[in-house]
This record gives sequence, structure tokens and C-alpha cells, in this order.
Amino acid sequence: MAEDIRENVKRILERAALAGERAGHAVSVVAASKMNDTDNVRAAFDAGIRCFGENRVQELEAKLAQGAYDGAAVHFIGHLQRNKVKNVVGRVDLIESADSPELLRLIGRRAVELHIVQRVLLEVNIGGEAAKSGVAPELLPQLVEEAARTPGIAVLGLMTVPPNTGDREETRRFFTKMRNLFVDMSGKKYDNVTMSILSMGMSADFEDAIDCGANMVRIGSAIFGPRRYV
Ligand SMILES: *Cc1c(COP(=O)(O)O)cnc(C)c1O
Repeated sequence: MAEDIRENVKRILERAALAGERAGHAVSVVAASKMNDTDNVRAAFDAGIRCFGENRVQELEAKLAQGAYDGAAVHFIGHLQRNKVKNVVGRVDLIESADSPELLRLIGRRAVELHIVQRVLLEVNIGGEAAKSGVAPELLPQLVEEAARTPGIAVLGLMTVPPNTGDREETRRFFTKMRNLFVDMSGKKYDNVTMSILSMGMSADFEDAIDCGANMVRIGSAIFGPRRYV
């Protein structure tokens, strides 16, 4: 298992770096370590991963307590429930999934209590899917303005999980739409808002995402193997 993870990490880091070279920008790889234990996280760390992403608060807390991410950064990448905000703010380097004014306010309020600034990305529901988190693209400008007025947070960019259509060209169109939004938002100047990170692309499509402008990719199964849901 650890041996597989090492090989996978090596290959993924190489592929991401190559895709970044072709696209003309550096790329950060976030290892999406949900449902993987501390041993697997450490194996990925030993192989060169320096950033992990978790999408469940309980799992994040358990692995933090075990020192799973020591020496690496950790991002929260899942849907963040309001009542879990206090468990996450100040404990992760980046919350990639802020998607509403209310959530921004709660994150900001907790950060102010802790005397820190919490870094966040704004998650966009680029496919307009009813069941998915993220702000609707047409509401993004408003959310950015809201974020700029919220003490305790710094917006570093955008994140998305596009619809899983299985159609490569369609996925690329969603990535391109995101890149265009990112560029539009970069043109506006707000306090506490910079557009430096565009987080999109997973195991099946990260090279396309990088080609379309992603400079952060979140990769799970291609590093850790298929997840076994219990
Ligand atoms: C699990 C997860 C990923 C990684 O998915 P893979 O297809 O396994 O690479 C990326 N982003 C988010 C938000 C996730 O929850």
C-alpha cells in the first residue's frame, strides 16, 4: 500500500509539473486524503506531498490529533456546515469551499475571536447543479463584495467541482468558464481579496484543468487508490 502510494505520488507530481510547464505556470498538488488513515497520509508525505485536503470535519480532527499532516499544509475542501465552522477555522491553512455570505460571516467571526485571518477560496457551482455546493456564477461578484467587507477572512481565489458528465470536452468547457470568471474577478480591486489560486481538476481530469488555467489540483484516488465506501 505505502509502496503504491509512493509510486503514485511520484507519477502525479511529474504529470502535474509537466502540464504546468506546458501551460506556463506552477501547479500545487493537494492530496485529497479522505477515507485514508494517518499511515497513508504519511506515506504520501514521505513521497513528496506537502498539502492535504479533507472534506469531513471529524476525519480532519482525528488526523490532526495524530499529527498526520505534520510538516505539510492542510485544506478543508468539503461542504462546511455552519455548526462545524469553529472546528475548522484556525486549524487549516485554507478553506477551499466558502460559498455563502452567511458562511463567510461565521468564518470571519470565529477568525476574529482567534485573532487570525482565515484564508479561503470561494467555491463556484459552475454547472449550476441543484445538489452541489458553491455559489452560482452570476452571484459570485456579490459574494466577492461581501467577502471584502467581512473582517477576519482573506480570499485567495476560486475553487470548483464541475459536473461529472464523463464528457471530456464538456468538462473542459466548464474549466474554461471558471478561468474566465477568475480572470474577470482578478480585474476588480477589493480589500482582502486576491485572485491568485484557481483550484480545479481531480484524478480523472487534472491535466485538462491545468491546461485550462488551474494552478491548484486536488487529487485523491490517483494517489491513494479507489476509495472503499463502507
Ligand atoms: C475527493 C475529492 C477530490 C479528489 O477526487 P478524486 O477523483 O479521487 O481525485 C477533489 N476534490 C474534492 C472536493 C473532493 O472531495
